[in-house]
Amino acid sequence: MVEYKGGCLCGETIFTANGEPTNPHLCSCTMCQKSSGAPTVAWVEFSLDSFQWTQNKPALYRSSQNTQRCFCQKCGGFLGAINDGDSSIFITIASLSNPDSIIPGKQHSYKEHMPSWWDVLILR
Ligand SMILES: [Zn+2]
Ligand SMILES: [Zn+2]
Repeated sequence: MVEYKGGCLCGETIFTANGEPTNPHLCSCTMCQKSSGAPTVAWVEFSLDSFQWTQNKPALYRSSQNTQRCFCQKCGGFLGAINDGDSSIFITIASLSNPDSIIPGKQHSYKEHMPSWWDVLILR
């Protein structure tokens, strides 16, 4: 089984997932933009059964009624999001040790919130 590892900018908060990654997608909602400082966040989902924080636990910020976002307590790196009651966790693909290992599918949530220059950035 493939193991996925990842972590934050400073290296203090590290996670490992052993399960099948599901639902890789993009999101450009305002909350993702404000959490990351980026125009769009690439997400992937892992079952909580196969996921663990292997070094330190993230700080949790409740960004909406049912969702908490996960940040490194030291550097603030944006690592994930958990919906209350879900059996899975969303992880930012860019925080994986190998962000090339998971490719977002066609789903792009809140595409209408993309800045107008988003496509220009890709074509450069
Ligand atoms: Zn950190
Ligand atoms: Zn979002």
